[in-house]
Amino acid sequence: MVRDYVSLVRHPDNASLFQAVEMSILAAQSKVPLHIHAEGLRGTGKTSILRAARSIVPRIERVRGCLYNCDPKAPHCPKHAGLDEAALAQLGSEWIPMPFLEISHSAKVATIVGGIDLEKLVSRAHPEAALLPGTLAQAHRGIVFIDEINRLADTSPELADILLDVMGTKPGRLQIEDPGLPKVEISSLVTVWAASNPDEDPGPLEGIRRQLADRFDLCVGVKRPTSHATLMAILQPEALDEVETGKVQQSIAARFMGGLQRMAKQSLNSELLAFLANVYLDHGLESLRALEAITLAAKVHAALGGKNEVDREDLRAVIPLALKHRVAPHVLGDIMEVLNNSRSAPEDVPEAKEVAPQESILDAGGNNRGFLSRLFGSLREPGAEDKEATPQTVLPVSTPAPMPLGNEETRRALIDANLVNPELVTIIAPPNAALPLDAVSESRLVMGEVELGRDK
Ligand SMILES: [Zn+2]
Repeated sequence: MVRDYVSLVRHPDNASLFQAVEMSILAAQSKVPLHIHAEGLRGTGKTSILRAARSIVPRIERVRGCLYNCDPKAPHCPKHAGLDEAALAQLGSEWIPMPFLEISHSAKVATIVGGIDLEKLVSRAHPEAALLPGTLAQAHRGIVFIDEINRLADTSPELADILLDVMGTKPGRLQIEDPGLPKVEISSLVTVWAASNPDEDPGPLEGIRRQLADRFDLCVGVKRPTSHATLMAILQPEALDEVETGKVQQSIAARFMGGLQRMAKQSLNSELLAFLANVYLDHGLESLRALEAITLAAKVHAALGGKNEVDREDLRAVIPLALKHRVAPHVLGDIMEVLNNSRSAPEDVPEAKEVAPQESILDAGGNNRGFLSRLFGSLREPGAEDKEATPQTVLPVSTPAPMPLGNEETRRALIDANLVNPELVTIIAPPNAALPLDAVSESRLVMGEVELGRDK
């Protein structure tokens, strides 16, 4: 059963995903896909959140009955592209919920991309070779969801290739090929949402298909709830009646509407642009796609937050999501540190450059950290300039996207956001020494249920 979006419990460990989902919907409405990938363990509810978003998507206007969801102002499908205004007016238009479709792992390429319409071909009255749009074509101006994207990339490379094409540019390209039909290429404005558990087979998407991982603008880590209060809220959900649910949904719709109007005029001032250029040059980002993702996400974040211009807060919220899958955790930490420290207000500059004990171990005379930076930097981009001389004095801090204001949950999220995220801390420890098999005692090789249980 898919739970209603508004009845799902938001907590500090999943708040970023709610935020990303709403940003992505607003971006889709403004016709620029913002692709998101939710990563997390089984049982974090990431899939439920993504699927439940179906209940808050806005409506879009299309040429009446067009399965490709042609925008009446800019029709693109084989049937309607090139029609003049009068002809389109005659066809009329209709408002439908933004398409939200799911691609299953067993789907055939023809189902996803489209192919020849057999029903029309064998029609006795009027045989015709026509295209039947596939899932991606039908999701034009909407969203497709793919669960366990890492597994799909591993087992269905041809589906991954199609996604690479569709997500490669904005708008993307969708090629429909079927023997007996001329090749058709249509533009595709599909927003792709995916979920995966990087701890399960076959591992993180970056390791399977790096290019595909890079196509996702934002990668959102979702964790299991950690606070007592959150668990209480999940166990005892606030019973919203229909009227209340309606009200919350209306307020979300109003946020989208206001956001859409503000999206058109969003801009980044030259100071923030210069900061991003430095991030690219100084930290060896692999692709310009990362910068595009940051600027788009920051604009959507600002628009959704009721602002007309992007500010530092927006960058702070989106950079961790845009770079999580693109740079090593310590590089992200360095970038966030620069962002946090380069504020103009003097009182924000940390007064004492005291080095905490663990950090002095990390730095070990400033060499270890520099060496690791160089090592990881060279793995990611050969020839990237390293910054070994920069002293690292502050541990990187994660900044989850802010949640809507005004409740207890929000306050807790803000408090939690100030705690150090262990994932972002570079840990240097000796690996466990390996033993030859015959040197390992039997009791460590064979474990009973009791030991296994304790192990967890
Ligand atoms: Zn059409």
